[in-house]
Amino acid sequence: MSGLPKTADVVILGGGVMGASTAYHLAIRGIKNILLLERAPFFGTGATGRCAGGIRHQFKTEVNIRLSKKSLSMIDALEEETGHSAHVRKCGYLFVLTAEKDVSVFQKTLELQHSLGVKTEWLSGDEVRRLAAPCVFPDALAGTFNTEDGLADPNSIVMAYINTARRYGAVCLTDCSAIGIELEKNHVRKVCTSLGTVATETVVNACGPWSAFLGNEIGLKIPVYPLRRQWFVTETIPELTSEFPFVIDFAQSLYFHREGSGLLSGMSNRNEKIGEDQSIDPKWEMQHIEAAVKRMPLLENSGIKARQAGLYELTPDAHPIIGSTPVEGFHLLTGFSGHGFMQGPICGKLMAEIFIDGEATTVDISMLDYDRFAEKRLIPEYNVV
Ligand SMILES: Cc1cc2nc3c(=O)[nH]c(=O)nc-3n(C[C@H](O)[C@H](O)[C@H](O)COP(=O)(O)OP(=O)(O)OC[C@H]3O[C@@H](n4cnc5c(N)ncnc54)[C@H](O)[C@@H]3O)c2cc1C
Repeated sequence: MSGLPKTADVVILGGGVMGASTAYHLAIRGIKNILLLERAPFFGTGATGRCAGGIRHQFKTEVNIRLSKKSLSMIDALEEETGHSAHVRKCGYLFVLTAEKDVSVFQKTLELQHSLGVKTEWLSGDEVRRLAAPCVFPDALAGTFNTEDGLADPNSIVMAYINTARRYGAVCLTDCSAIGIELEKNHVRKVCTSLGTVATETVVNACGPWSAFLGNEIGLKIPVYPLRRQWFVTETIPELTSEFPFVIDFAQSLYFHREGSGLLSGMSNRNEKIGEDQSIDPKWEMQHIEAAVKRMPLLENSGIKARQAGLYELTPDAHPIIGSTPVEGFHLLTGFSGHGFMQGPICGKLMAEIFIDGEATTVDISMLDYDRFAEKRLIPEYNVV
């Protein structure tokens, strides 16, 4: 007995935050015959389980600001809604700006955030230096800070959604890979899996960095590319206070936040090549440590306790692809390009709206369609870390 049903109204592929949130939001709106398939032995061990846990309002595009605003309030309400806490810690996000060009972009971004009700503050170089300490930024020109940004726990959110979706009757399976999609006249008819075949007319591809594979199987190019990112966590650093914010040295794509009694630091390698390698790159780690020690001299005296590498699911404009495709019944919820964990709650809800109401209504995501790439309607996001 594999537990794999013979038919499903909706088959969700991938048990990361996107798949889990979609299953939950469909289930609480009364959809009964939901099947979620995760190929790993546990849910949430793909990009979601390797992410840094950051949640923020501070984006450049209106759609990302609106998505985060809704999603972060859903994360706040998760415990009341599902009985599971997301373990939110609002330490605030501090973007430190050391390049003139970033200062002018962030100034405009701040105006947009204010117009959408997001209360990000503008800081002078001196205010940045005070807030970022014990990080050192002699070259800080300015910064932005939002006290409502911070951290949440990816595993808690995934399991809150999976457990509650199951309570409402959704079937959520691990150890089951989707290996192909059968079409009839360009309509989805079946999902082929490692445990057998399921008849369905509706599929949601929420396979994160691995989303392109199932598109290739049906001749659909999905412009989502896996890109390695990595971070490390130090041993205890007693000098770090509980107020230390999530600090981002934007020009270097270098970040720090408290993790337990130590510090988590990540840095994006701009020369990283597209690929599925999830092992730590030791050469990059050395460069990262050197850059990190310059900003946070306390690191000089602390050991590394843990390290992690994972994959961003990158699109050409760093925005996700949400909704239908030219293949009838084959939907995408993927391509979040480094900020999908925080947007998982709202995006699962929007997927449910698309299926049940015919369109996403809570946030206008019409510009995040699949066709924008062919039609050259890209909407680049600047605040990608
Ligand atoms: C190092 C790092 C740091 C990050 N930091 C942040 C952050 O601070 N804040 C933030 O918001 N985001 C962050 N992100 C991005 C975030 O993790 C992702 O955008 C988000 O988790 C994507 O969720 P997902 O459900 O789409 O993908 P995933 O979590 O990868 O889930 C996809 C799932 O699909 C499964 N799967 C794949 N193929 C198949 C198949 N054929 N059949 C069945 N199952 C399949 C995989 O096993 C996987 O579990 C970070 C990412 C990385 C790598």
